[in-house]
Amino acid sequence: MEIVFKEETRTITTKPASKLWMPKQVLFTPTALEEPWGQQIYKRVQALGLPIQELKQNRITGLRGEDERETYRIAKSTLAIVTAPPSAFKLQPIPPSADWQFHLAEGCPAHCQYCYLAGSLQGPPVIRAFANLPSILQNLVNYKKPQEVSTFEASCYTDLLGIEHLTGSLAKTIRFFGEQKDMHLRWVSKFDQVDGLLNLPHHGNTQPRISLNTDFISRRMEGGTASLEARLAAIRKLALPRAEGGGGYKVGLIISPIMPVPDWEEQYTHLLDRLEQTLDFTCELTFELISHRFTPGSKALLQEWYPNTLIDFDEANRSLKYNKFGGKKYVYNTQTMNLLRSFFYSELKKRFPAAPILYWT
Ligand code: SF4
Repeated sequence: MEIVFKEETRTITTKPASKLWMPKQVLFTPTALEEPWGQQIYKRVQALGLPIQELKQNRITGLRGEDERETYRIAKSTLAIVTAPPSAFKLQPIPPSADWQFHLAEGCPAHCQYCYLAGSLQGPPVIRAFANLPSILQNLVNYKKPQEVSTFEASCYTDLLGIEHLTGSLAKTIRFFGEQKDMHLRWVSKFDQVDGLLNLPHHGNTQPRISLNTDFISRRMEGGTASLEARLAAIRKLALPRAEGGGGYKVGLIISPIMPVPDWEEQYTHLLDRLEQTLDFTCELTFELISHRFTPGSKALLQEWYPNTLIDFDEANRSLKYNKFGGKKYVYNTQTMNLLRSFFYSELKKRFPAAPILYWT
């Protein structure tokens, strides 16, 4: 089960501060350019001096390289502005995270060696942002339950904060939810550029979450993301009261994917220590805890994308589970799960007794 040597984990300290992701090319489809929000994105990327290509057709083509690796490299440096298809207007439930999932974009500029999106999205992993945002938002109102709060998860297929400087779509969505009654937005990120979100009129209807892991995992397995320290700084800014220059958001932490790397207890203790020091003021927060898992399809793709991965994909170390559609997934065995789970429940209760742990999976 061990995936790296102890000595290696001890040498790791911090990773350099994150930079904003700048695609090597930005493609616009004809229908995206007809949308006022598409035009807004056009002006943003033009102002940033990024190479723009106006496509003649609505299909994104020409991103295939000679092999999977090259296709990956080309696609991951491309932002495509498209319109969301009609299927995007039929929302799907997403337990336990929220009542409904919806999408402002698909694909992500980061390079996590365990990426949850591997195998979930069809075709090259290009980052697509949707230009018909106002229609997407307006459609959400149809899914609101009467007389109770409905929650909407926006981060199932992307990391919106990672492309926010290019689209502005996350801020627009936070504003939209700020104007609604009993509709709550949830999103999660491994990026840290939150300054533009702090003064938005969210009215308590948005819960930003930051995804955290040990410094070692973040440095070695989460390429292109913000460092652990940068993410901690971001969650602090989001959670601080407005009067103290923060966003005044109710925030969340997702610790994921939890892995029993060597010295895991020591490393996760350090992470929780840093978190406790960071959130040294009263704030509303929740935790979500997700252990590492993979499917046969995601393993095959991730090993192609990251041939030198440090992640343990050995099925012999795992238990096999089936999802409701009969798909296979490999999770840690019961003994490892119990060990990890009890560690987190006990350490979090000690440090953040008032913060609910929404789920362990
Ligand atoms: S941040 Fe999330 S979506 Fe993006 S590469 Fe990492 S795991 Fe995948």
